[in-house]
Amino acid sequence: MNAILEISGLTKRFGGLVAVNAVSFSVSEREILSVIGPNGAGKSTLFKLISSFMQPTAGEVRFKGERVSGLAPHLAARKGVVRTFQETTIFKSMTVLDNVVTAHHLRSRTSLAGFYFGTPAARRDEAEFRRSAEEIIDFLGLGALKNEIASTLPHGHLRALGIAIGLATNPAVLLLDEPFAGMNHDETRRAVELVRKVRDRGITVLLVEHDMPAVMTISDRIVVLNFGQKIAEGTPAEIQQDPRVIEAYLGTEDETIGL
Ligand code: ADP
Ligand code: MG
Repeated sequence: MNAILEISGLTKRFGGLVAVNAVSFSVSEREILSVIGPNGAGKSTLFKLISSFMQPTAGEVRFKGERVSGLAPHLAARKGVVRTFQETTIFKSMTVLDNVVTAHHLRSRTSLAGFYFGTPAARRDEAEFRRSAEEIIDFLGLGALKNEIASTLPHGHLRALGIAIGLATNPAVLLLDEPFAGMNHDETRRAVELVRKVRDRGITVLLVEHDMPAVMTISDRIVVLNFGQKIAEGTPAEIQQDPRVIEAYLGTEDETIGL
């Protein structure tokens, strides 16, 4: 197994509350790994720790063997660990294309200042960014909408735009926190396909998601959190039969979770 991410003893305290409690697991390259667990289990906090958006109280995250915990989030992102946000980072008044072009600047060597002052290097980047942005937009099936203002997009397409913005930063690991939330059945089915295609580009995907049928279909492996602790880890089939998982979700042992 070729681990791209190694999470060891990761812990986050908020005052007296241990939101993430000594969690360890590793993620293989090109794997789709889902993190599930009841509300408040610590899933979003775990993702914030992995993407260096928050600093751990203890433990560490290694990306390709190198410690990334302790880095500022934009530096972790430049190394390739990128968390997509929900609709908040989409510039609603900009077009789909401009949103994705702008996201490319995150990984740019020439600064945004160079872009505004129109240096030759910045102009070269800009042309390359537009080409790459168009490719990503087509890839995500948003080609026909590239000149639409983001605020006019329906929910499912906004989520796809969020993923496009994540891809624009050229991630090795993409963390998606509840990407299917609020989607209907058809939108979810399309989004599941999209996440698969993202993985097929060679990107490792970490997913937090409540939609159990979607999680069971898409995941190679699942990590289960409860009260900040990892209570199980395994394939979807293993997780669905794990008594501790069933207990955490239902408080009963004779039903499969969410299916
Ligand atoms: P999940 O995403 O699994 O629903 P979270 O990671 O959002 O859970 O939250 C885990 C626990 O940590 C919850 O009890 C939540 O109230 C608490 N928590 C999360 N973020 C903060 C914060 N910034 N300050 C204090 N408590 C927090
Ligand atoms: Mg959450």
